[in-house]
Amino acid sequence: MSDNKKRELQVAALENGTAIDHIPPEQLFKVAYLLQLEKLVDKTITIGNNFYSKKMGRKGVIKIANKFFGKDEISRIALVAPNVILNEIRDFEVVKKYPVTLPDELVALVKCNNPKCITNNEPMATRFTVLDKEKGTIKCRYCERKINKEDIIIK
Ligand SMILES: [Zn+2]
Repeated sequence: MSDNKKRELQVAALENGTAIDHIPPEQLFKVAYLLQLEKLVDKTITIGNNFYSKKMGRKGVIKIANKFFGKDEISRIALVAPNVILNEIRDFEVVKKYPVTLPDELVALVKCNNPKCITNNEPMATRFTVLDKEKGTIKCRYCERKINKEDIIIK
């Protein structure tokens, strides 16, 4: 079997569902957490890590059979893993393929790192406006605190 063929087999072979590809290996389980995979109790899920990648050396892959994500559901993973590629597969064919980018707003996902912020003192959901989807800069809707990607704390 050719090397190319072997590599295809590592990530292909999903009849219907979603394959999330090019996940940085160290972020794989954070991505699984953000997708709330533990709640998909009736889905067949394959999680693989440290596959060979021409582009990034090593990568993680998550495949979920018979599951298609809404944009808001999937876009949150850009918080921990930018440039991840989402593949939607129907009848063994990739029908959609696109890089995952941050949504316009993050609700109840990120902790505000301002201790005086109302969201840290009242039982309420945090809301952040995404200022820069490339750089991952976000701003708290309540206290206006700007947070850079590297300082983002996921709840
Ligand atoms: Zn705040």
